[in-house]
Amino acid sequence: MAARPAPYLDDLNPEQRRAAETLDGPVLMLAGAGTGKTKALTTRIVHLMNTGRAGPGDILAVTFTNKAAREMKERVGRLLGQPAEGMPWLGTFHSICVKLLRRHAELVDLKSNFTILDADDQLRLLKQLVQASGIDDKRWPARMLAGIIDQWKNRAWTPDNLPASEGSAYDGKGPALYHQYQARLKELNAVDFGDLLLHVVTIFQRHDDVLRQYQRWFRYILVDEYQDTNVAQYLWLRLLAGGHKNICCVGDDDQSIYGWRGAEVGNILRFEKDFPGAAVIRLEQNYRSTPHILAAASGVIAGNRDRLGKELWTEAQEGEKLRLIGHWDGEEEARWIGEEIDAMQRGTRGMRPYSLDAMAILVRASHQMRAFEDRFLTIGLPYRVIGGPRFYERLEIRDAMAYFRLVVSPADDLAFERIVNTPKRGLGDKAQQKIQMTARQHGVPLVEGARLLLDDKGITGKAAGELRLLIDGLGRWGRMVGDADISHVELAEMILDESGYTGMWQNDKTPEAPGRLENLKELVKALEGFENLQGFLEHVSLIMDNEAGEEGEKVTLMTLHAAKGLEFPAVFLPGWEDGLFPSQRSMDESGVRGLEEERRLAYVGITRAEEVCTISFAGNRRVYGQWQSQMPSRFIDELPEAHVDVLTPPGLYGGGYGAAASSGIESRAAEANVYNSPGWRRLQARGAERPLSQPSEARHSVIDLQAMSAHTVGERVFHQKFGYGAIIAIEGDKLEIAFEKAGTKKVVARFITGADD
Ligand code: ATP
Ligand code: MG
Repeated sequence: MAARPAPYLDDLNPEQRRAAETLDGPVLMLAGAGTGKTKALTTRIVHLMNTGRAGPGDILAVTFTNKAAREMKERVGRLLGQPAEGMPWLGTFHSICVKLLRRHAELVDLKSNFTILDADDQLRLLKQLVQASGIDDKRWPARMLAGIIDQWKNRAWTPDNLPASEGSAYDGKGPALYHQYQARLKELNAVDFGDLLLHVVTIFQRHDDVLRQYQRWFRYILVDEYQDTNVAQYLWLRLLAGGHKNICCVGDDDQSIYGWRGAEVGNILRFEKDFPGAAVIRLEQNYRSTPHILAAASGVIAGNRDRLGKELWTEAQEGEKLRLIGHWDGEEEARWIGEEIDAMQRGTRGMRPYSLDAMAILVRASHQMRAFEDRFLTIGLPYRVIGGPRFYERLEIRDAMAYFRLVVSPADDLAFERIVNTPKRGLGDKAQQKIQMTARQHGVPLVEGARLLLDDKGITGKAAGELRLLIDGLGRWGRMVGDADISHVELAEMILDESGYTGMWQNDKTPEAPGRLENLKELVKALEGFENLQGFLEHVSLIMDNEAGEEGEKVTLMTLHAAKGLEFPAVFLPGWEDGLFPSQRSMDESGVRGLEEERRLAYVGITRAEEVCTISFAGNRRVYGQWQSQMPSRFIDELPEAHVDVLTPPGLYGGGYGAAASSGIESRAAEANVYNSPGWRRLQARGAERPLSQPSEARHSVIDLQAMSAHTVGERVFHQKFGYGAIIAIEGDKLEIAFEKAGTKKVVARFITGADD
């Protein structure tokens, strides 16, 4: 039989081709970002099928996200041209395991119609068990246990093969509760997320016939983003590939960013041991990014010690240097990015125009999205959020908003239903039905119905006490709505605290809880921009209305984690400040290891960019109404100077957004501002100042700050905070001023106006 033509191979370089054509035996492709790993893997699938080596049913391909799986399916379909034979099994570990487990559920005492519990259900179940065993769940929250059990499952430890070293977990009661939890799940014919993999691994380990059947079946296994597999996933792969060993894994140790979820980079190293004789393919040519972007990313990741190490090169044109800009605060950062996106769309930055689809903002923590969402809605910039709900759709935000709604309009029954038992007040379905009935009988809102029911002693015991507290609280908060003595921001915090809602998340020990608390803080911060609660609620309802997904171009907003494997012509990376990125938590909890994982995340972020990469940071962020001054991220220091342009923040030389914005900035004066921070001074010392408004030819000129100073020694000037004074010395952009009332101080020139202005 004549070989079928394989034109798709012509698109690959020799090493990629080797990965696509080495069809037998283990293959490990280990290569940096943008070197075409995913492309080679996809081509390999096509080649397997096109050469007749394998039918779609013989191939199993695993990716990390559903989005990635969809994209790979599309690519395969395109390359093959509508395949009549169908598509291979191609999905995430979880989606594939669901299919397998449905077929063999009885082997782990389940029925094939088992339910998959979500995190809430899982927690409810664990709480019941914790309570029944008489543990003080204040000291030992059930969420903590949920986290522990998840980690055990990630390591493929069942209750029966839990190592002795885990015996002390959860006050020594962890192992027993794990047993009970798994037993209870079986009674309920249910599994949690971690079980999907764990059960399938158990089945494979205990039932050789089943394992062999799948080994025969999936003769070719392919895995993308291999660096992020956890132990259970690794075992699963090793079992499945154990017979034929036709397994091709591709990954990049520098992009391992799921250590916190149990992923182990060590799996890459283990591969060569478990699959001796594996063809190891390294790719070094990057096809995604310009040399500047690549060099900047390489410079940052070089700070990590634990690396397999690799070089990347590209044939791409020089292009733009990586752009770095500091802002006064987070709101200004959002405003600037909004304007910059607009300008880049119109092509007024000395660069080609970029469509909205070509631009993405990648944040470290999802709470950072709020400022952007608000800003984009205000200026009417279409955007999409990927890999998670939009800010105002998040569970904790909806809960909090329900409290606010109820305080402002007590007749909002939907809001009442949402929060009456959140946090748990012991009000089960029955009690809630009674409230509904009472309200209906009297033709009053639910809040009122609840009060009547309490007065009639229709609810008793602990639940009655808790409900009374809520109803009284709602009344009290409601009376404060128009009160001049308490700001709506303080009121909002009070509502969340006194209702027990904030406390609920503080006691919560799951990995998501800190993020939810940060989102709540962010919500309170958003309130500051409004005059009162009503105004804010209206704003949000308008936002929600706007959301009906119109088609058209949109800028993408997503977390760095969700951006793995993707690429965009222009990328914005905001919030590069110590404590935010690298995150405080990662540094506190995991020390150097945590920091290295954050650095890999920085590497993932920069390498998403094809042509333009803009990193920004703010000198101040508001947390619970308090200004907090921020230090530029240590990763900024690690960017190689030669590949970075430092952009001048707007307003610094009187340019920028015009009066409204700059007066806002200046009125907040110099206490904790970015231009005074050591990090910013370091950047200035590099001398690569470049006002954005400069035409592109002038970009690389170094601006003499002294010469820019419009002031002279002896001049009488005015400062918003310190009042009148006379300049006694000028040092770069800093002025030493003898203030008439405040004494001698150094201040930044931009916060000074002439005394007569
Ligand atoms: P990541 O580590 O970020 O997942 P990757 O190694 O999987 O990156 P791909 O996404 O496969 O890289 O490829 C990056 C870009 O380079 C894509 O736009 C792809 O089409 C292009 N590309 C890959 N290989 C080649 C090639 N041989 N010739 C031209 N373009 C290529
Ligand atoms: Mg990839």
